[in-house]
Amino acid sequence: MQLRALAKINLGLDVVRKREDGYHEVRMIMQTIQMYDLLKIDKCSEPGIHLTTNLPYVPCDERNLVYKAAKLLMDEFEIRQGVTMNLKKFIPVSAGMAGGSSDAAAALVGMNRLFGLKLSMEELMKRGVTIGADVPYCIMRGTALAEGIGEILTPLSPVPFCYVLIGKPGINVSTKTAYENLNLSQIQQHPKIDSMIDAIQAQDLKGMAGLMENVFEPGIIREYPVVQKIKDLMLEGGALNAMMSGSGPTVFGIFDSRRKMEKTAQKLRESHLAKTVFATKVFNVRGNTNDK
Ligand code: ATP
Repeated sequence: MQLRALAKINLGLDVVRKREDGYHEVRMIMQTIQMYDLLKIDKCSEPGIHLTTNLPYVPCDERNLVYKAAKLLMDEFEIRQGVTMNLKKFIPVSAGMAGGSSDAAAALVGMNRLFGLKLSMEELMKRGVTIGADVPYCIMRGTALAEGIGEILTPLSPVPFCYVLIGKPGINVSTKTAYENLNLSQIQQHPKIDSMIDAIQAQDLKGMAGLMENVFEPGIIREYPVVQKIKDLMLEGGALNAMMSGSGPTVFGIFDSRRKMEKTAQKLRESHLAKTVFATKVFNVRGNTNDK
């Protein structure tokens, strides 16, 4: 069985407050894009989980979210039969694109199907949140408002069709660093998440793009000016807007013209500002029931 684990971008990202338990409450507009890892799952005669990946620096044991997801269902449903899992990563790691969370989502969906567990999407999402706050969204996919620590989801109408250019600089930013560089009390103006929801509802692509904001961006740009350089290059190339996704450092540009996006992708490659350059588009199908 082969599944696709799709990446996400944040069209808007606000951090509302820090809770007493140390977690931050967020308000984010999530959007799935057509960039994905591939996860193969098969039953095997040897008991246990046998995971391999194409990246030497991604762990293949219980630290991998795919492993965790498979183990969670195997323990709960007392599955004795072993599985082999092969994960081909294309989504940049530690990039603010929920790669690991989406892999976990694919593992839950795949195990559910392979062993005929008959769990609904909601039941999988409930289990997914114990692995990571973004996992339920990665199961649901499409356009959504995420609140709480990211796990309280409200589906939104799909964003208008658009092209998305991804540029990930050759630096890694942990979510921890992003929060350390964020001074909540100094945020003068929070992203207009509700206005963005209205723009999406009205299918106003330019209006939506104009409202893109991420509270993590200024702190990361202060430390890594390359993020601003990639943004500038995308805007010069005709992006309706360009912004950092999640806790960074990946930058995405929203385009209404494929030609402009492809020209800009070429310029970005030639500039060597980004290690990964990927030209794609939004993905608006809910759930992963149709994946093979
Ligand atoms: P988010 O957008 O949710 O903040 P991210 O892009 O910052 O995610 P990931 O790429 O999902 O981060 O994962 C980063 C860390 O998680 C790495 O340190 C990596 O070793 C570990 N990890 C565990 N499982 C995976 C996986 N399946 N794919 C990638 N990284 C994984």
